[in-house]
Amino acid sequence: MKIGFIGLGNMGAHMARNLASAGHEVTGFDVSDVSVEGVAKSASAAEAATGADVVITMLPNGEILRSVADEIIPAMRKGACFVDCSTVDVESARAVAVQANEAGVLAVDAPVSGGIGGADTGTLTFMAGGSDEAFAVVKPLFDIMGQKAVHCGGSGAGQAAKICNNMILGATMAVTCEAFALADKLGLDRQKMFDVVSTSSGYSWSMNAYCPAPGIGPNSPADNDYKPGFAAALMLKDLNLAQQAAEAADAATPLGEHARDLYDTFVKEGGGVMDFSAVLPWLKDKGHEDV
Ligand code: NAD
Repeated sequence: MKIGFIGLGNMGAHMARNLASAGHEVTGFDVSDVSVEGVAKSASAAEAATGADVVITMLPNGEILRSVADEIIPAMRKGACFVDCSTVDVESARAVAVQANEAGVLAVDAPVSGGIGGADTGTLTFMAGGSDEAFAVVKPLFDIMGQKAVHCGGSGAGQAAKICNNMILGATMAVTCEAFALADKLGLDRQKMFDVVSTSSGYSWSMNAYCPAPGIGPNSPADNDYKPGFAAALMLKDLNLAQQAAEAADAATPLGEHARDLYDTFVKEGGGVMDFSAVLPWLKDKGHEDV
């Protein structure tokens, strides 16, 4: 396929490279001058989109997505497919899909999980929203860049799945860190707590696969001075998107809101560049009324 790829940052550069090395003809554009192995450079987003069968965007937020969409949709040929893999608000995902469909362009919102490592090794998980026809067009590309692609429903369903998942993750990680900090003050050995919880009803991905306590459980960012991993600033972005969606849909998400507020404070106190599990050392020395 002829593919335009816009946004060649930490994630996009790896994804574009994987598509090129699988034999697709990839033309890339980024506002900062980035070179990616096997990917031809273009002078603008519109140029990268012109004549492409599929255009993929991997951008920082919904506002930028909307401005790039304004530029590329008119340049795309009818019947081509626009796939946004950024994590953005559900409203922007739906607005861009309507705009694309009105121009005769298919649209899929397909945010990812798996992080920079997953983008590098082609093992991302895609959660996609859009028509069956559009999903079928881009599924072979998801299979190159990832190990799993779930078609979640119509436009916006991919973003909805992503923020629901990350709201669970943020709240679960926060409370897992709280439990370790509480255990410390109760004189309960961390290893013993892990041994119990990881095989009891408190188990979770945060505890079992990504334990926030150093030296305990599987190797995780806690064992590497809390270098990300998944940066707390990115977790805060996703928790804010979840709250934005909850307000728009009038959904009750009190724990999601608490988790957002907690990560907001953590980031304001300088934790944004650390892994999101670094809430544990941050909480450890605080008292009951401190956060
Ligand atoms: P990044 O900031 O490294 O990359 C974004 C790129 O977009 C940058 O290179 C930037 O120069 C470019 N860009 C900005 N405005 C542009 C424009 N108008 N036209 C063309 N290019 C433009 O971010 P990232 O880590 O690659 O993340 C991209 C998206 O993926 C985000 O929405 C993020 O939330 C999501 N995501 C990131 C991770 C992760 O671990 N990094 C994991 C899952 C999802």
